[in-house]
Formats: sequence, C-alpha cells, structure tokens
Amino acid sequence: MYKVGITGGIGSGKTTVCKVFEVLGIPVFYADTAAKEIMVTDALLVDGIKKAFGKESYFEDGKLNNKHIAGIVFNNEAELAKLNALVHPAVFRAFDTWEAQIDANVPYTLKEAALLFESGSYKMTDATILVTAPTDTRIKRVMQRDNVTAEQVKARMDKQLSDEEKSKLANYFIHNDEKISIIEQVLALHKTFLNTAKQEHYLAAKKI
Ligand code: ATP
Repeated sequence: MYKVGITGGIGSGKTTVCKVFEVLGIPVFYADTAAKEIMVTDALLVDGIKKAFGKESYFEDGKLNNKHIAGIVFNNEAELAKLNALVHPAVFRAFDTWEAQIDANVPYTLKEAALLFESGSYKMTDATILVTAPTDTRIKRVMQRDNVTAEQVKARMDKQLSDEEKSKLANYFIHNDEKISIIEQVLALHKTFLNTAKQEHYLAAKKI
C-alpha cells in the first residue's frame, strides 16, 4: 500500500493536519502514541529496555517508570540513542502490524512521526510531508496546549532537527501559519496521493 510519512517540529500542527486526512477516510498511524503503548506491551522491547536501563525501568504492575528512564536519557545523547535504537525498530514492527489490518480498498495510509527523518522511518514511506509554521506561532501553541513556558518549548525545539534540515528530505509541504487554509492544502495533496496511489496500484496489477 502507498505510504505517506508526515512530520513537523513541535507545535507545527502535524496532528491537526492528520485529523483532516482522517476526515477524508485516510487511516493515520501515530508513531509517538504507538511508541508509548508498545513500551509496555511489546515483550521484546520491554526486555530490551530492562536489560539496557535496569529492572527498575518498570513498576511491579508492568507500568513504565518514566522518571527513571527520563533521568538516564535526559541530556545524555549516548543513552538516548540507546533507547531510540530499541524503540524505533519496535515502532516499525508495530506499523507493519497496523498496516496489515488496513482494508485493501484504502488508497494510502499516513504515518505521523515527530522523528520521521531522524529515525530513518521515512525510508520506509513512498512520500513525505513536512508541516511548517513560524517559530513564534509554534511556541505560543505549545505554551497554550501544554501549559509550559516559552523557554521549555525552545529547549524541546533545540533538540529537534531544524525545518531547513528536514525540508531537504521532504517531498511535500503544508504551511500551517493560520493564513493559508490547511483544509485546502490537505485536499490538494489528497488528490495528488490518490492519483499516485492509483497509478502504482495499476502498475502493480500489471506487474510492470
Ligand atoms: P507536537 O509535536 O508537540 O505533538 P504537533 O505538531 O502535532 O505538536 P498539534 O498538536 O497538531 O501540533 O498542534 C499544536 C497546538 O496548536 C494544538 O493545540 C492545536 O490545536 C493548535 N493548532 C495547530 N494548528 C492550528 C491552526 N491552524 N490554528 C489554530 N490552532 C492550531
């Protein structure tokens, strides 16, 4: 099935854009939500995390000890890379399982991931969308949504690849600056993906 990856910096509005695609009937896999889920449900991953960060990574009832993990990986790039090396492949597996149960008549799927480019996940998609918005707008949105300070948002932003870097790897863009309608931008891309997916399906059926 034709797969489209979608990403964007914190507060760019990628989840909001995905909701518009969902209204059009396009299934969306939310990689960050899936990652949180599988950190307690994927036995292989749970085992890997315990081996890497200690048994105290989980409480007795099986819940993740976020504080313990965060304490290790926060501001420690090597430990964070270790965690990502365990979580990212598990999320790829979860995506494959999710995609396998999608109705064959669905024209294409979306994979929303904050670290689409950083994790290498984009290599497993057919096209990618980068959602962008001005930095000050993104800061205001996240301050309001998460009830945090501008400094806290900026600190999170500093840990992400810049839009300039991400745009080198993106095929399509949605500018969510609240001036151009995101609905119209999504509709235009939807049309493009329907055509491409139809074309690919035709070629696959003809085994060309
Ligand atoms: P994160 O990476 O932090 O998960 P995100 O890129 O998924 O963020 P959203 O959660 O979609 O961003 O949007 C951030 C906040 O901004 C939300 O509260 C959302 O409702 C709001 N927002 C997004 N786009 C718009 C818009 N065009 N107009 C008004 N508010 C918006």
